[in-house]
Amino acid sequence: MTKKYQILIILSLLLFTGFISTSLISYFTARDSLEREIEESTLPLTGDNIYSEIQRDLLRPIFISSLMSHDTFVRDWVIAGEQDTEAITRYLKEIQARYETETSFFVSDKTRWYYHPKGAIKQVSKTDPQDAWYFRFKSDLAPYEINIDRDTADPSRITVFINYKVYDYNGNFIGAAGVGLSTSVVKQLIEDYQQRFNREIFFINRFGKVMIHSDSYTGADQIRNSPELSVYATRILTSPSSAFSYQSAGQTIYVNSRLVPEFNWYLIVQQANSPASERIYHTLILNLIGSVIVTLIVLLLAWLTINKFQRRLEALAQTDKLTGLANRQVLDRVLPQQIAQARRRGEPLSCMIGDLDGFKQVNDTYGHPVGDQMINSIAELFTSMTRGADLVCRWGGDEFLFLLPNCDRQQAGQLAEKLRDAVEQHRLRVSNDLVGVTLSLGIAELSEQDAPDELILRADHALLASKGGGRNRVSEPPLEYQPG
Ligand code: GH3
Ligand code: MG
Repeated sequence: MTKKYQILIILSLLLFTGFISTSLISYFTARDSLEREIEESTLPLTGDNIYSEIQRDLLRPIFISSLMSHDTFVRDWVIAGEQDTEAITRYLKEIQARYETETSFFVSDKTRWYYHPKGAIKQVSKTDPQDAWYFRFKSDLAPYEINIDRDTADPSRITVFINYKVYDYNGNFIGAAGVGLSTSVVKQLIEDYQQRFNREIFFINRFGKVMIHSDSYTGADQIRNSPELSVYATRILTSPSSAFSYQSAGQTIYVNSRLVPEFNWYLIVQQANSPASERIYHTLILNLIGSVIVTLIVLLLAWLTINKFQRRLEALAQTDKLTGLANRQVLDRVLPQQIAQARRRGEPLSCMIGDLDGFKQVNDTYGHPVGDQMINSIAELFTSMTRGADLVCRWGGDEFLFLLPNCDRQQAGQLAEKLRDAVEQHRLRVSNDLVGVTLSLGIAELSEQDAPDELILRADHALLASKGGGRNRVSEPPLEYQPG
């Protein structure tokens, strides 16, 4: 694996772990604060709201019952000896009609008569289990109670009774009065709360028994028997309010309880995962998608940048710094390709090596920078006089190599002659002097058995021949020449 891919992999790992960890951290932080918010604030607030609604809706019958128990007519009528049954019946009928209650009643402690809007129905008896409520309530200290029971007037019907104690003017207990609400009315109230607050609501008594719930309730009828709530039962039943959450089927269920002292019951409000937590989850997914996109963009940019620099580095590595011509490394790469191509196509391929004559003299006389200028200007001359397909390469200090595809020794000879002539004509102005040099060249054409080195070697030998022959000339190796 190349360095380039290593860098890209490390970069993507860094970006991914960075993005994913920040996304997850913010997700969990948001979720935690949401959970806390629901547990500590939203749900208790809902409990408060429902509580005040219950006060409005259910305290009304308590209030009516309280009015009945303090009504002077009821007390006077009892003290006067319960003479006119018609009068109390009319009174109870009025209460029932006026306040739209399911039923209304008065039980006299003296005569034990159970009065009802329809008349004196029966006498309550200690031996009748149906009347047990009365004797229990009588011995209880509370001024009133809420009791869910079968209606004495219609035993098939379950009713929520508010039983209120009635006292005479000396504070003696003389009976119990009150009204009853049908459980369906109470259930309807709970149903309404649930719909409005979008939460599950039910009531439990002080022992954990579920007293009232909506029809949609699927939990246990005693929280101590509920697999989830039983753990928290003691906590709920020993404090006026509590808040907690538990996991059920992959969902977080938030629970809030509060004591409703008027009923001596606990109001339980439950909520499953909120829409806000879904939003937080969606945000996480969007963050992750965003992270992937940003990572891909960064990787693409990094890839393009690395490639650009790589190309630039490669170009630098292949270019001669002074002249901008190709260097020896390029020739090493290109020469075998050109030889293969020439052989494949059956085309000639020629190589020339040129070396400036007496160049040291220029350096010595005018200084190294002028020597540089000379090399540079001659390199430009070479570039301008060769074809795009030709490779002009700075071979050494004042030495140049030309690789000429599709060019035989004759054509190469003509080009060499032109170059030699051009260099001879070329002058570089240095102060008042015009400085010139000459060029010696050696040519070689690729022969069938030539290895790359051999082609160059023969051109080099030809160059030596030019140098030896007096310089400023072009030489070819003799045809029968064999290097080495
Ligand atoms: P000859 O005719 O035998 O080629 O004689 P010459 O003076 O040209 O000597 P030769 O080719 O052997 O040496 C080339 C000189 O070019 C040697 C070196 O000091 C000089 N030279 C090499 N590279 C550079 C360069 O980049 N800039 C300059 N200014 N001089 C260079
Ligand atoms: Mg030279």
